[in-house]
Amino acid sequence: MNEEMFRVLFVNLATGKGRVELIPGRSSGIGGSGLAALLFASYGDPVRPWDDPDQPFILAVGPLTGLFPLMSKTVSAFKSPYHNQYTESHAGGRSALAIRFSGYDALVLQGRAATLSCLNIGARHLELKETGFMAGMHALAAGKVMRRMFKGNSGHRSMLRIGQSGEIGSAMACINVDTYRHFGRLGGGAVLGNKNIKGIVIQGDSNYPLPENKEYPKLFKKVYGMVTDTDMLRKYHNLGTPANLESLNELQSLPWRNLQQTADPQISGITGERFADDTLLRNGACSGCPVGCIHIGYVRERFEAKDNRYLYRQVAYDYEPIFAVGSMLGVTKAFDVLRILDVLEKVCLDAMSAGVALAWATEAAERGFLSLKETLVPLKFGDTESYITAAKHLGTGANEFYRLLGLGTLVAADSYGGSDFACVLGQEMAGYATGEVFFAAQSLGFRHSHLDTGGYSYDQKHKEKEVDKAVSFLMEDEPGRCLLTSMVSCLFARSVYSEDLLAECLKVTGYPELASNLNPLGEKIRRHRWQLRFATGFSPEEITLPKRFYKVSTWKGPIDTVYLDELKREYGRRIKALATGTEEGR
Ligand code: SF4
Repeated sequence: MNEEMFRVLFVNLATGKGRVELIPGRSSGIGGSGLAALLFASYGDPVRPWDDPDQPFILAVGPLTGLFPLMSKTVSAFKSPYHNQYTESHAGGRSALAIRFSGYDALVLQGRAATLSCLNIGARHLELKETGFMAGMHALAAGKVMRRMFKGNSGHRSMLRIGQSGEIGSAMACINVDTYRHFGRLGGGAVLGNKNIKGIVIQGDSNYPLPENKEYPKLFKKVYGMVTDTDMLRKYHNLGTPANLESLNELQSLPWRNLQQTADPQISGITGERFADDTLLRNGACSGCPVGCIHIGYVRERFEAKDNRYLYRQVAYDYEPIFAVGSMLGVTKAFDVLRILDVLEKVCLDAMSAGVALAWATEAAERGFLSLKETLVPLKFGDTESYITAAKHLGTGANEFYRLLGLGTLVAADSYGGSDFACVLGQEMAGYATGEVFFAAQSLGFRHSHLDTGGYSYDQKHKEKEVDKAVSFLMEDEPGRCLLTSMVSCLFARSVYSEDLLAECLKVTGYPELASNLNPLGEKIRRHRWQLRFATGFSPEEITLPKRFYKVSTWKGPIDTVYLDELKREYGRRIKALATGTEEGR
């Protein structure tokens, strides 16, 4: 272990050759988000477009991956097909541990393979295998083929793959990771598709020695106890994030039917309890996580129309996908939600983006902006069968309309009208109609994710409307999250991994320097990420909020439009000041 250097595998997809380099910067970049930003700054081009073959696709893990519980995420970083700017997307599964057990801190994919291929890497090998026969194959089938093709090390091996949506360049295309996890948002699947990469197998085939000191096992035991003894983590294991559906509905904060409502009595069909009672088969977990928040239900389908034999397939569910293809589409039966998710898994579309896009399309069709010529099936809120077909159309780009919609709801609305009711906050909204602070926070957040800051939680606790206080909360909340995503901690463990505890963990695992200098790094990394984002074209002033968000009613009453505009203006101003260094952003 070298405290200052990152060990990075660079793969040139055009030649099929790789090289391992030691890259300095641990003391300023840590790993994960910080390392990805360092690598993009050196190997990415801020000006050239996302689909230029030389733009890198980066996967990065952290110094504690494999050593402490819930250090289970991998950060992917790339120029996004959605907005052509620098971004990150995070996923778990076995990916982080597989990268660590292959001996790397990061992988950097450069160039484009000559034909559709799968990349197979490990500690001592690199293989780029032509897999033209996998063109048009859905992501679940691709996983099966890859498991057969790249045998060995199944306990540590991680498999990333894309479906049809990634091959056609949809900006909503995700990357499936080990079947139940995803690099979901902002189009990572299209970045791999553009590089002619159908799948990546990371073998995790070397040893990773544990620290040989007495403090490490003691501290591990302490952290393990803290992680498994918290109520919050118990909640994530039991009902999981879907427990929030009912509470947000009660708070009038759950988007329904393209955000035309924020509560509905039909919630009873899609609560966390309903999913657990009727559909849950088992829990799963990312490698190195004792919590096991992944909830896996099932769908069944007939082999043949007249056949009485059924095929059962496992489908993972969480709060966000249930909101996106459940309440947002007016689909109120748990099994129907899973059936739509099953299709999205196959075409490998981000469920949140796709659900919100289809909700807009439904309202656009109802209001006469779209006809059957565009939608190909009659879209109606609550009509599961139509949504199953429409999801396939969206994932495969069945016609010009679906291809445009796959580039973003606002892109389609530009051509067909209806931008006023597009539920887009920088990207298709997350499932929190909690109020003004969240709307401003998601629309301008670094990943346009509800996890960039705790805006959704601020809304639920604060009735007062003080712009400075709310924006200060958002600004002060972000560096701690950057620190955690640089460590690649699952953000569900944010109440456990305080800065002091992270420093203790680093000290006993061979990073004493980093441990003693942690404090400013969350802020530094946050600033670096924003600098890259601005350098690649981000402009807060150009992000507009569709009118639909000004018409929402939550538990606090109707949205205060003046407050929302002021929040957005001030938050944008402070992010820009932070990135450009023109004045103190905090
Ligand atoms: S809590 Fe869930 S998402 Fe987080 S690491 Fe564990 S299984 Fe993965």
